[in-house]
Amino acid sequence: MEKSTTIRGPCRGGTPCKCDVLVIGGGPAGSTISTLLAQKGWQVVVLEKAHHPRFHIGESLLPMNLPLFEQLGIREEVHRMGVVKYGAEFNAPGEEAPVTFYFSKALDKRHPYAYEVRRAEFDHLLLRNSAANGAHVLEGVKVTRVVFRRGETSLVTAEDEGGEQQQWEARFVVDASGRDTFLADQLGIKSRNPKHNSAAIFGHFHGAVRRPGKDEGNISIYWFRHGWFWMIPLRDNIMSVGAVCWPEYLRTRRCDPDQFLWDTINLCPEVAQRMRNAKLVSSVTATGNFSYQASSMSGDGYLLIGDAYAFIDPVFSSGVHLAMSGAKHGAGVVDACLRNPATASKELRKFERTTRRALKTLSWFIYRFTSPAMRKMFMAPSNIFRVEEAVISMLAGDVFQGSPLHQRLRIFKVIYYGIALSRWYQNLNAYFLRKRNVKFSITDVVR
Ligand SMILES: Cc1cc2nc3c(=O)[nH]c(=O)nc-3n(C[C@H](O)[C@H](O)[C@H](O)COP(=O)(O)OP(=O)(O)OC[C@H]3O[C@@H](n4cnc5c(N)ncnc54)[C@H](O)[C@@H]3O)c2cc1C
Repeated sequence: MEKSTTIRGPCRGGTPCKCDVLVIGGGPAGSTISTLLAQKGWQVVVLEKAHHPRFHIGESLLPMNLPLFEQLGIREEVHRMGVVKYGAEFNAPGEEAPVTFYFSKALDKRHPYAYEVRRAEFDHLLLRNSAANGAHVLEGVKVTRVVFRRGETSLVTAEDEGGEQQQWEARFVVDASGRDTFLADQLGIKSRNPKHNSAAIFGHFHGAVRRPGKDEGNISIYWFRHGWFWMIPLRDNIMSVGAVCWPEYLRTRRCDPDQFLWDTINLCPEVAQRMRNAKLVSSVTATGNFSYQASSMSGDGYLLIGDAYAFIDPVFSSGVHLAMSGAKHGAGVVDACLRNPATASKELRKFERTTRRALKTLSWFIYRFTSPAMRKMFMAPSNIFRVEEAVISMLAGDVFQGSPLHQRLRIFKVIYYGIALSRWYQNLNAYFLRKRNVKFSITDVVR
């Protein structure tokens, strides 16, 4: 199959510019897929509405990201910008000591650490890398419409910051627009997750107490009455602190977001203790309704990857890994579609299957994360039948592998249901709380 000829820019008015693949959005998903497709020799255009570096939440990465960094050739640079994270620490009210799950104890012991990064720097690196690999990257350009023409190229309309329109003709369109869910909205295929709903409020602080020695870079998770907290140590003594709460709690906010975040921190004495000398050094953001999924992740000439397809909850820091892994698998699918459309549907089905399976694995844990039974299992882990190793593998992002992980997670589930039954009253209450919150709607983002 012939590739498109060199792209002429900036594609205003007149005849549209042609490319093989047009990627909407230059976050981790969009940058990764555009790099990999450009490496395969395709003419790739990335349209990003913002200008990097720009703030983005989602700073804790997973060990299973590392092979991808290697493949993209950015491992050294991520190491320079990040704080090394050897594990994930869990804290429950009333428990004396935290429990830390070290990635070195996962089923697959080859990736014993990950990184905490400022997303502004990390995403900028990924996007620059995609341009360095030959993708045509345009920032400050927002895609406004895609017209799909069965069996033909698609027409993409975009607008730059001056309000000027651009027209592109692409053989394949990848939607990596994140939580903007551009195509899912246009196609009307996005729906709220019927089983889970949460909201978050977060900011950056200077001077919060860090863990000593090798544990300095570990993420800390704290359960509290209205949900859970994260504490993510970044470079320069900065701590990213956020509370993921039931929407019904966030709706009680009557003060400004800064004060509300401090008030929320004070509801969790263990977090408040670590924050006693900390100073807020960023604006505080509150965001709601972040559990959704599109009913399909692909169609004739397009693919949805990363948050553009689905987002569940950030508790296991899986978003960037899912976005980049989706991009990696997606690159294979797009390549197959462009080279030999006849074999592409098999690739597509495989891609959908593995993505849905990974999301299902994580979802089971996420839906139950605030239940007393799950808290008990995390706070008193046991490696019977290697289930603790399997849980650590899940925490490391190793959710795309097959049977050894899933067999052991099934045993974990049996134990979980046993504990939940033995304390059925508390667990039933937690279930009803989750159900009630699915109905709540907080659509705004408050800064
Ligand atoms: C509160 C919270 C905490 C989180 N914590 C973590 C964490 O600790 N670890 C983790 O791994 N993940 C975390 N996540 C999830 C993580 O942020 C996302 O999963 C990840 O950023 C997804 O990457 P993406 O490339 O799919 O989307 P994004 O990173 O959102 O990138 C999408 C890009 O598309 C651009 N765009 C959007 N619409 C258009 C358009 N029409 N035209 C052109 N460009 C467009 C945007 O400007 C953006 O740059 C968290 C999420 C939330 C909400």
